Amino acid sequence: MTYGEELKDKLFKKKVNGWFKISDELRQEIMNYSQRYMEFLNNSKTEREIVKSSVKIAQEHGFRDINEVEYLNPGDRVYYVNKEKSMYLAVIGENRLEDGLNIIGSHADSPRLDLKPNPLYEDQELAYFKTHYYGGIKKYQWTTIPLSIHGVIIKADGEKLEVRIGEDDNDPIFTVTDLLPHLAKEQENAKLRDAIKGEDLNLLIGSEPFGEEIPERVKLNILNILNKKYGIVEDDLSSAELELVPAFKARTQGFDESMVAGYGQDDKVCVYTSLTAMMELGNISRTAVCIIADKEEIGSMGNTGMESHAFDTFVTYLLNKRGENRVNLLEKVFCNSKMLSADVDACLDPIYANVSDKLNAGFMGYGVALNKYTGSGGKYSASDANAEYLAEVKRIFDSNNVKYQISELGKVDVGGGGTIAYILANKGIDVIDCGVPILCMHSPYEVASKYDIYSAYQAYKAFWK
Ligand code: MN
Ligand code: MN
Repeated sequence: MTYGEELKDKLFKKKVNGWFKISDELRQEIMNYSQRYMEFLNNSKTEREIVKSSVKIAQEHGFRDINEVEYLNPGDRVYYVNKEKSMYLAVIGENRLEDGLNIIGSHADSPRLDLKPNPLYEDQELAYFKTHYYGGIKKYQWTTIPLSIHGVIIKADGEKLEVRIGEDDNDPIFTVTDLLPHLAKEQENAKLRDAIKGEDLNLLIGSEPFGEEIPERVKLNILNILNKKYGIVEDDLSSAELELVPAFKARTQGFDESMVAGYGQDDKVCVYTSLTAMMELGNISRTAVCIIADKEEIGSMGNTGMESHAFDTFVTYLLNKRGENRVNLLEKVFCNSKMLSADVDACLDPIYANVSDKLNAGFMGYGVALNKYTGSGGKYSASDANAEYLAEVKRIFDSNNVKYQISELGKVDVGGGGTIAYILANKGIDVIDCGVPILCMHSPYEVASKYDIYSAYQAYKAFWK
């Protein structure tokens, strides 16, 4: 080595693709882990399904419902489910809770189409469900793909029906139609965002008329089928939460099988990696808390969103059941706590590289990404992590051989986004965003590197330990 080369080696930041010269054992471990992750994705496409799957995984690993536990001791493992759509888990550490918690928080909701409260209509002897899209979608991506219907219907007498149709190969699927190119001259000249109107995202659900000469025969036939199958009438559809999600399955992508393509990886990839990391915790000094939030994609509002005080209630439970609580202690717990906001990052897409600053972008295969801040246009609305805290997280990752990269969402003034980080930061918690870089974020088929998925899992484990 020349002196210059030596100096460069010492001074320059090193960036190496995680797959480069990877051992066969590690590669196999990554493949096995990704396989389990894809199964999780296929079983849980909505926030309610995520919570259900997560409770099952937690129970299998000795976690108990906190409502059934009177006293908490170090080593105890508990969970709290909020309205079936968000949940919190904890592994109690040796230290006092007031010394602070180590929190990792992700979200279970993903962009999709929701049914309107009065969804069903017939037009030209075709039956449709009207939808209202949920979260930031590019509307044209949601036409002409197979969609399944997931959710609940609460009948007049209070009976709750669970709906999941379109996932089984024998189930029917549903689509939103789009115009044939032959007649789409006007549509193709429109701006991309105006070409498909939100009000036109209507789901085609039937075409066969009921066998009698009366108006709205196709709609009647559909309601008759729904009545026979679920015992519901049209009005029951208004007290329902029915979500349309892509009916296709998560799959391995690429000849080298290095990627996962699947719906809802924002942010189910962080749900799965943090949840499985928590399952492996043994004796720890600081109490570990895992948040699986809802409503992140629409601003974290509502009583299952991170802005609600449900999380404070959970931490108060922990304090009470540890026999530690006293007046105003909650604030102190938060000020002593540290958090990774586990949410996906934008991955540099070479085809659209012009929106990313190559020096500060997330790259596929370079490990979990730390975003010091998100926000948009001059860091507006950003929770900007303190340098001291960022250094601390880097030390944890370095000393545990966790591969990570430090990035921001895109070029300055190109756009932006947010996570739940600022909500927890407002409580006084040290927070930094830390998640998997994703291609085609918010599309029906998002892509992530298996290496990065595994890195997130390793990162979360190291943070809690
Ligand atoms: Mn997200
Ligand atoms: Mn998102």
